[in-house]
Amino acid sequence: MLNNPLVKKSLSKIVEKEHEENLKKRFKEYYPDEETPEGIDTLIRALNLSQEDIEYIAKDIQDTVEKTIIPIIQALIDGIETDEEISNKTEIKLNIVRKFLYKLYDLKIANYKRSKDPETQWYTYSWKFDEDEMIRQINEEGEKELNELNAKLEYEENNMFFVCPLGHVRYNFDEASDEEFLCVCCKELEYQDNSEIIKQIKKDIKLTKSDLNSFNKKMKK
Ligand SMILES: [Zn+2]
Repeated sequence: MLNNPLVKKSLSKIVEKEHEENLKKRFKEYYPDEETPEGIDTLIRALNLSQEDIEYIAKDIQDTVEKTIIPIIQALIDGIETDEEISNKTEIKLNIVRKFLYKLYDLKIANYKRSKDPETQWYTYSWKFDEDEMIRQINEEGEKELNELNAKLEYEENNMFFVCPLGHVRYNFDEASDEEFLCVCCKELEYQDNSEIIKQIKKDIKLTKSDLNSFNKKMKK
């Protein structure tokens, strides 16, 4: 189950969030007077990151999901309950195991029970993975993505588009009329045939649907 691409995509959020926070800090250092953008893709563009940096981030996200988060969840599925035992089993450092357990907890896909050892008076935390909640979230994310794609498709199908031949702007009819069919660079706007864009969105919708269907089919087994 954990090797399913939708599971990996969903778990990537955890690591993405970390990178997003770091990029926000970097943005604030460079541009203290500007409003810090939200979202990792927007930040990458705003900071004009090099291809090398972008690849580093993508690789780090993939590696952390595959080599750290998934093994921790697998240990929980195998019935290992405490952070120390998970650390021993996976050979991932204890502080890293703890960090990701709490991140999974924040996402509500792991939870813990606290109990006091009557002899030592110490608390132990026994962790559990909530598979149903993860399946629910993946479906919710998939539905959201489908809604966005459908809205995009409707907008493309119901509008005509005009673009600057130099690629500066893309306007629908009303926006283009407001600008008197001229770009900021003074070039005349040209009608754009958007059938390729529509084709691509339809392809994306089909793919998202089939990913989600095969995910749910596998989960029912
Ligand atoms: Zn232009």
